[in-house]
Amino acid sequence: MIDLHTHTTCSDGTDSPAQLVNKAISEGFSLIAITDHDTTSGWEPAKKVLRANLSLALGAEISCLTTQGLSVHMLGLLFDGSHMDMQEMLENTRDGRIPRARKIIELLNAGGFKISMEDVESVKPEGATLGRPHIADALVKNGVIASRDEAFAELLHNNSPYYVSHLAPTPEDAISMIRKAGGVAVIAHPFASLRGSVLSVEDFLPLKKAGLNGIEVNHRDHNNDERNSLANIAAELDLVITGASDYHGTGKLNSLGENLTNQAQWERLESEADQRRVIRA
Ligand code: AMP
Ligand code: ZN
Ligand code: FE
Ligand code: FE
Repeated sequence: MIDLHTHTTCSDGTDSPAQLVNKAISEGFSLIAITDHDTTSGWEPAKKVLRANLSLALGAEISCLTTQGLSVHMLGLLFDGSHMDMQEMLENTRDGRIPRARKIIELLNAGGFKISMEDVESVKPEGATLGRPHIADALVKNGVIASRDEAFAELLHNNSPYYVSHLAPTPEDAISMIRKAGGVAVIAHPFASLRGSVLSVEDFLPLKKAGLNGIEVNHRDHNNDERNSLANIAAELDLVITGASDYHGTGKLNSLGENLTNQAQWERLESEADQRRVIRA
């Protein structure tokens, strides 16, 4: 079983990297990718507890903004974690998330919802990439709303009057950085229309030209029609097809392994990295 998209307490998941590795081992996974938002800080703690037959594909889910202002998530897997330009790109995005959260909080306050940056800091694990789920957790703690899910449905979704974007690379820039750092780029949940506006079919060719390796087709936020059109785009552009859970612990309903990547697709994806970087015990 191969699951190529998961989050830990290094971003907005609720399992620590060690807890996630332990869970994957006890549930019999052969490989998982750790893809926290805009950070590689979960790599070392995950490696430390790795044992048995589990392998790790270390990566990150890179927040991107198109020139038209569409939010796109790019999974970078198997890149060199010590690549300076890559780390600088991730750090710039993490830094941009702080003023963005302040703006969201100001808008929420103006709308009559009680929350402060201190509330958000108090629910966020130390060092974690700051994201809207932490704002959601602070709203829950303040009794403003019942759950993360409700907070997103009512206040924090991409079309909300309280939504603010943050500084982020374009998808093309993220792809070229991932490839320069030796890794492979898989576009995450590209047709997840529940979250807001999404890319169109013609947007994939420029991404392929920038070096895109694969498309995350099988994801809970895609219906069957969306999966079929993405599979057709992948076939047309000769891209790898992946499936993944986007597991966030108890932070989201997604259960580990609810969507999987098949072995042949994984082997092709792995062969497109500049060297073997899968971690084994
Ligand atoms: P941000 O990175 O700050 O823009 O926040 C986006 C993150 O919020 C993504 O990782 C999503 O997984 C998460 N998210 C989106 N919708 C929900 C939801 N309904 N419940 C929990 N988390 C969500
Ligand atoms: Zn997330
Ligand atoms: Fe995502
Ligand atoms: Fe994700």
